[in-house]
Amino acid sequence: MRELLGAEASIAERCVRCGFCNSVCPTSLVSSAYKPSRTSRGRIVLIQSAIEGNVNEVFDEGFAELMELCFGCNRCVKVCPAGIPIPDAVRRYWDAYHRAVGVRKNERLALRYDRYAALLSRLPRPVTGVLTSSLGRHVLERVSGISREAPLPSFDGGSLDERLRRLSLPRTTKRFAFFADTFYRYVRPSAALRLVELLSRHEISVSLPPQHDSGILLYEYGFYDRLRRVADLNVRSLVGRVNEGERVLTCSPAATLMLRSVYQKILNTRQAELVAENVVDVNELLLELAESGSLRPKVEEVSLHSSCLSQYLGLTEKIALALRASGVSVRELRTDCCGMGGMWGLFAKNRADAVELCSKLTRGLRGHLVTYSETCSLHIQSVYAGPVLLSFDVYN
Ligand code: SF4
Ligand code: SF4
Repeated sequence: MRELLGAEASIAERCVRCGFCNSVCPTSLVSSAYKPSRTSRGRIVLIQSAIEGNVNEVFDEGFAELMELCFGCNRCVKVCPAGIPIPDAVRRYWDAYHRAVGVRKNERLALRYDRYAALLSRLPRPVTGVLTSSLGRHVLERVSGISREAPLPSFDGGSLDERLRRLSLPRTTKRFAFFADTFYRYVRPSAALRLVELLSRHEISVSLPPQHDSGILLYEYGFYDRLRRVADLNVRSLVGRVNEGERVLTCSPAATLMLRSVYQKILNTRQAELVAENVVDVNELLLELAESGSLRPKVEEVSLHSSCLSQYLGLTEKIALALRASGVSVRELRTDCCGMGGMWGLFAKNRADAVELCSKLTRGLRGHLVTYSETCSLHIQSVYAGPVLLSFDVYN
């Protein structure tokens, strides 16, 4: 294990087993976490035992299942007195696992998520409807492990690329290279289009440079070699736009994380650094507009959910500031996890925990709930009775 984890092994050894991470880790706060091995502290203790040679088989199903509980929310990183990045150690474990054992069933979808999404966006609605029928969901659960009860998005039909080509919006002096990522390019281009139209009303235009999926799932599952290739392709495309004076606009916390921080770490090139320096998250842009008094909100009062990555990236504060600056009252700020964790809450084995976390998050809330994560939004909508809005969909 020491060899497999590389530098992360000595970091993991610094754990003093204080348990602070348990107090914030979503997977330590559900009823199934009565077993210490299912908590964040349990994970790092298990890794330490494996490093010390006290675990016989580090790639067996039981060990892998306990590692798989971590969905990389980074909450533990912020409270650990020893500065241990548990999610990095877990990702390094998966990297070693794939080399030794291979790809697991539930990861096959993650590896080809962008290709499947692009393909499905081209199919007529009745065909995609079959995939979300009860028979389709049953088959999907068998082949991928995604719960038949979990919320899956319906496809708008068509891609953002086509829709932007048809839309004739004026080119303005404030122009961004739009990194829309797979969800907004192929699943919900309508939401990205609403954003583009909102920005154009404020003299901001976008172009869509050639791009691949941000690779967030490759990152979460520790497929570092593939991620390096995807990151390199995206950086090469975006750096051209940056050199022409455009900044890079992102509209999901996953894309912001990858372009602003992960690509730099794994590529370690000046080009990746240049792209990172020029990333503008949509909520940062909206905050500027709100502070200039030019945003008109659709609602008067909201509860704000702080998704894992928004919290980690410091975006929640900016979303709250933009809402308040535009006159929206933020009735309640919920920093607890909704249980989605990217795709984690979709899987049948995690579904009950995901619903338990979301029920706790939304208990007692009323009215509009705002979140900045497309997957959190889908999950919360499946549990919460009130309306759920994406943070950039709050404005007219
Ligand atoms: S907070 Fe850090 S030091 Fe404490 S148990 Fe968790 S990983 Fe170990
Ligand atoms: S990254 Fe999140 S899920 Fe993973 S151990 Fe840390 S707090 Fe728990």
